[in-house]
Amino acid sequence: MIACLEQRFLPDSEAETRADDDVSSLCKALELNGSIDCGSVGVASKDFGGLYAVKPLAFIRPSGADDLVRVVSAAARSSNLTVAARGNGHSINGQAMADRGLVIDMRTMEERIEVVSCGGAGYVDVSGGALWEDVLKRCVLGFGLAPRSWTDYLGLTVGGTLSNAGISGQAFRYGPQTSNVTEMEVVTGKAETLVCSETQNPEIFFAILGGLGQFGIITRARVLLQPAPDMVRWMRLVYAEFDAFSRDAEILVTRPEGDSFDYVEGFVFVNSSDPVNGWPSVPLTPEQRFNSGRVPRTAGSVLYCIEVALHYKSSDHASTVDMAVSRMLEGLGFIEGLEFHVDVGYMEFLLRVKRVEEDARANGIWDAPHPWLNMLVSKRDIADFDRTVFKKILRDGVGGPMLVYPLLRRKWDDRTSVVIPEGEIFYLVALLRFDPAYSKDSVVEKMVAQNQEIIQCCMKNGFDFKLYLPHYQSEEGWKRHFGNRWTRFVERKARFDPMAILAPGQKIFSRSRQP
Ligand code: FAD
Repeated sequence: MIACLEQRFLPDSEAETRADDDVSSLCKALELNGSIDCGSVGVASKDFGGLYAVKPLAFIRPSGADDLVRVVSAAARSSNLTVAARGNGHSINGQAMADRGLVIDMRTMEERIEVVSCGGAGYVDVSGGALWEDVLKRCVLGFGLAPRSWTDYLGLTVGGTLSNAGISGQAFRYGPQTSNVTEMEVVTGKAETLVCSETQNPEIFFAILGGLGQFGIITRARVLLQPAPDMVRWMRLVYAEFDAFSRDAEILVTRPEGDSFDYVEGFVFVNSSDPVNGWPSVPLTPEQRFNSGRVPRTAGSVLYCIEVALHYKSSDHASTVDMAVSRMLEGLGFIEGLEFHVDVGYMEFLLRVKRVEEDARANGIWDAPHPWLNMLVSKRDIADFDRTVFKKILRDGVGGPMLVYPLLRRKWDDRTSVVIPEGEIFYLVALLRFDPAYSKDSVVEKMVAQNQEIIQCCMKNGFDFKLYLPHYQSEEGWKRHFGNRWTRFVERKARFDPMAILAPGQKIFSRSRQP
């Protein structure tokens, strides 16, 4: 099976000449309704990570799924062209790039956000290149409805997050975004357009979800909706000890629905007055003050914070909301006097990271490199992870949020291509590095090296973990990542993209000339 996907590279100069020929004949032959740009491909050669720059042959702006079929068919007829769907290019390690291949700008595909409401809920049919931010606005403002499961930041595309998982503070209840899709339309690596769901073409449906773009391009997804609340009570609760933090976080994510918050996340911060990594990063408004005198003297190098949110209607009486919150906080062991809350509109809450983006753009750090590391670590090993990674390797912080919060395995569908650790509870760990000094190469290298140190530390200690938004340079790495799911992943590739045309930037398979 792997043999038919094996690498068959041409020598560089020969490959370039042939590829140039390919692309010029392509431009003529494609007859796209959209457009093809062989000259200024700038944005297609970069991503949010800023660690890789890879030049494609052409940047294609399709107008619809028919254009995608034309592009994939033409690539299949060529000797070595690959095709990368580019969402909003928010990958870290070049996953949406195509070295001397064709990059498709999914953002320019005709945007479709059609809400079908039935009995106060329903679904939205949305194009793969639509931003979640636009889905939010259309569903809430037009229909008072909203998807159930989000990402923290909404400047990401529907197809991009569904190719990974899509994780945020609602995932403990509804699962990741991949658990909240009932139907998709996709263009496979064989240039077939298929509508798929749990019952119609289920093999491609489950393959595509979390499939790292390997099996098809998502042109449309049907996402479940629920009634949107008006308001959110957004809270942060500080802990000195990891044990108390993780115990309470796990209690909060395992409570029955009527008895629990609607959003549960958590983060680690440095036990110091450092404005970016320390106490000042915790309060929710500029008026709130972190009283460090409340932190016990026994506290270590880092502290912990549970972040929760409760949905409510603007017509609810304030005392009703207060009572509901008090009931949910009962018995939790956070430090008294170190709890913060603010009431905000639902859309404002979901768009909270947009404000971070605006500030970061104003400070010039949005476009700097971001060597982020995202992992899923089993509950079994998370206390050791805290001891070895948060308290030691990362005791000075990462210049941005260090997220850590529990998720429940039963909310993830085993049939999808996403891989997660063993055990019912595992933690998302996200090291979201922001630092102006990253513009210096040596600093970026240090950060990348620190990420490697963390991965090595997990491997050396035998932690049960998976990379989220994974990135490996070798087949060995990918085999280890997928574990006993590797064979299924390879079989899916052979079935839906036998020439390995799609998503070459993931560096899992190499383009072959024959199916
Ligand atoms: P791209 O980076 O453009 O593409 C990612 C991969 O998907 C590529 O392999 C690409 O070829 C493929 N792809 C893109 N579109 C399609 C499509 N239509 N069909 C098939 N394959 C496709 N993730 C979370 O889960 N939760 C978060 O809270 C979260 N927050 C983030 C905040 C920021 C500021 C950033 C930069 C990233 C965040 N992410 C988060 C990570 C995000 O989910 C990934 O970056 C993801 O790749 C989505 O980005 P994108 O839409 O720009 O996709």
